[in-house]
Amino acid sequence: MSEPSIFTRILEGEIPSEIVAETENVFAIRDIAPRAPLHLLVIPKTAAYRNVVELAAGDPALLAEMVGLASSVAAEQGSTDFRLVFNTGPGAGQTVFHVHAHVLAGELDEESLRA
Ligand code: AMP
Repeated sequence: MSEPSIFTRILEGEIPSEIVAETENVFAIRDIAPRAPLHLLVIPKTAAYRNVVELAAGDPALLAEMVGLASSVAAEQGSTDFRLVFNTGPGAGQTVFHVHAHVLAGELDEESLRA
């Protein structure tokens, strides 16, 4: 067994973070290092999928649940328009291998999005 991911540890309350929204299978937190005025992470409660490609192949309904929560939580925070970013692989900046979507709204720190 590999170590629990940082997001599993947050979900289990081992690492402090406010869960700003959740559904049965998905939760949302604020990114600790925001790169836009609104920067949330939407994360499945299961750590079974390392990235969005695995998730889309393995459980497309769970991916749809993530997109739905991203949309509703962005709207709750005043942003009906937003970017949804799935960094996929270390070469694309992925650092946590428990699939998650970045929900970004407002002016981006474009520099930080460059590889
Ligand atoms: P990625 O680089 O796409 O894998 O995204 C991982 C994200 O997790 C980064 O944007 C980090 O800032 C964020 N992150 C890491 N640790 C925490 C934490 N304890 N609470 C909230 N966000 C975190």
